[in-house]
Amino acid sequence: MTDNNTNPGFDTLCLHGGHVTESNRAHLTPIYASSTYEFDSAEQAAAIFRGEEKGYIYGRWGNPTIAEAEERIAMLEAFGLKDANGEQLKLKAILHASGMAAISTAFMGNVKAGEKILTHQSLYGGTHEIIEKILPDFSIGAVIVDFHDLKAVEQALQTDKTIRMMHIETPANPTLQCVDLAELIALAKAHGVVVCVDNTFATPYLQQPFAFGADYVVHSTTKFLNGHGTAIGGILVGKDIARMSTALTKTHRLLGGNSNAFDAFLLVNGLRTLSVRMDRHCANAEKVAQFLHDHPAVGVVNYLGLADHPDHAIGMKQMKHPGAMLSFELKGGFDAGVKFMNSLKICLNAVSLGTCDTLISHPASTTHMGVAREQRLKFGITDGMIRMSVGIENVEDIIGDLEQAMR
Ligand SMILES: *Cc1c(COP(=O)(O)O)cnc(C)c1O
Repeated sequence: MTDNNTNPGFDTLCLHGGHVTESNRAHLTPIYASSTYEFDSAEQAAAIFRGEEKGYIYGRWGNPTIAEAEERIAMLEAFGLKDANGEQLKLKAILHASGMAAISTAFMGNVKAGEKILTHQSLYGGTHEIIEKILPDFSIGAVIVDFHDLKAVEQALQTDKTIRMMHIETPANPTLQCVDLAELIALAKAHGVVVCVDNTFATPYLQQPFAFGADYVVHSTTKFLNGHGTAIGGILVGKDIARMSTALTKTHRLLGGNSNAFDAFLLVNGLRTLSVRMDRHCANAEKVAQFLHDHPAVGVVNYLGLADHPDHAIGMKQMKHPGAMLSFELKGGFDAGVKFMNSLKICLNAVSLGTCDTLISHPASTTHMGVAREQRLKFGITDGMIRMSVGIENVEDIIGDLEQAMR
């Protein structure tokens, strides 16, 4: 994309954002399968090492295919946003081997021993575990508060001056809980606390946390950004370019959670259709949610687009659309859940989410099998709960499959 095209739309950025024409003028940025890069001279090598000249050095530090994915996602998260001077907001992104690697860099690069992360209960399982099981060994603590309770958040920030970072996930798994980005970020900022938002469920097409003042956004690119279920990946996006280029780049390079050219290529290719895929995902999810809502075998339907979802108002305030994730409760409980999963013909029984095809899982018999029942129920994960990532198939086929599996 040429520099004089200063205001491309979101769909155009999905296709062309961050593309650099390479020397053979390949239409798509190739898979640069190279672990190292040659220098023209000792002087040039020194200049690149000093950062005075642009150039690649070593695969863990950077790669042209990876760079395209990073730049494109940075542009999508910044789309239409202004910086403090009224200019187009600029962001820097670092691609990682997984969402967890990106989250690790965000935490380890911002919080030191003796400091704490302020977060909430409804987090991705891996994020919860790293906070509970890994960070305490490095003397990094956590304060866990219900982020719907802004008074409690403020009180935590006021009383504990070792809180260095706030980590927010909205919407969150599996009940689609949402918390108020504008209010939470304002509180964090008032106390000099940096804010990281996991934007995996929404994607920048539906929600842009930087619009509310977030410092960092993380994604598992494994999900909607890749969109085809072909690669694991994660991205850390930040608005303090200087810090992203120094402290966080250093943490990323030394923890070693770098991505690779092949996965980056798959991600770049997936990003090309992000907006059209999301439009269809969202349209289908609305119809599926309505079908489930009206079905006699179904109890609660957790879909943000339904007016009876407890966080409907918060979600709609900060998102362009309620998205493509939902969960619902089969009235028949655990056995109904197992029977339902075994009867599906089109929808796939698999964990993960955000792929073109519809993925359905039964947490009680799979992902949450090891969690004590009482604790699971406390998180809203009932015996008959089914989680669904609505795909882009013909919606009649998705609904038809659900209907026959519930019979
Ligand atoms: C999947 C997921 C992650 C972890 O990403 P990986 O790519 O599996 O490491 C983090 N946050 C959310 C919300 C996720 O859905």
